[in-house]
Amino acid sequence: MSANLLFPAPGPVLAAIAGSDRQYPVNRIFCVGRNYHAHAAEMGVAVDKSTQEPFYFTKHAGALVPGGSTVAYPPQTANYHYEMELVVAIGKAGFEISAAAADDHVFGYACGLDMTRRDLQLKAREVGRPWDLGKDFEESAILSPIVPKATSGVISHGRLALSVNGKIRQETDLDKLIWSIPEIIEHLSRFYHLQPGDLIYTGTPEGVGPVVAGDRIEGEIEGLGTISLTVK
Ligand code: MN
Repeated sequence: MSANLLFPAPGPVLAAIAGSDRQYPVNRIFCVGRNYHAHAAEMGVAVDKSTQEPFYFTKHAGALVPGGSTVAYPPQTANYHYEMELVVAIGKAGFEISAAAADDHVFGYACGLDMTRRDLQLKAREVGRPWDLGKDFEESAILSPIVPKATSGVISHGRLALSVNGKIRQETDLDKLIWSIPEIIEHLSRFYHLQPGDLIYTGTPEGVGPVVAGDRIEGEIEGLGTISLTVK
């Protein structure tokens, strides 16, 4: 019997693992902002890697929804956007991890959708406020089953694409990431003690756009499978 809780404690947030009946307990969700030049440009902000560092926002683990789900159109927005992303699943704790050692800390990879209330994000951005209302809301982090990494060496290329109702909206190659996976792990782990269960959404390419009730989103990443989401 557990402690004398005032109300039931939330259970663990679990992610599926492809080809396994074991599950991946989710700890934190980190998201990289502006990690493809063409997406940064469409958001009206240029990125210069020689003078800038990556930046992050977070979502609470309870925002996670498995791929294949149907979600409600979220409240307080009129501009609900998809963002298709490669997700890194951390499997081993580390602090101040070098880029060369980053692969040791990766359990696997997944397809992710960083669903965004774009109007609320931009409104906050304009006045220098946090992005939480635009980014960290219920059912905003969609995740496909995690594919355990097969061999050593982090993913550095491969096609990533997203379609809405069968029409391609985002298409790129992971080699266009501004900050590579080792570089992100090296940088993020200077600020946080990374833990198994931490997910990193690595950023979205150009072509983001709105969806409405009734739309079906389908995404894929070469070698990692697919993800889908229906908006009701
Ligand atoms: Mn994103």
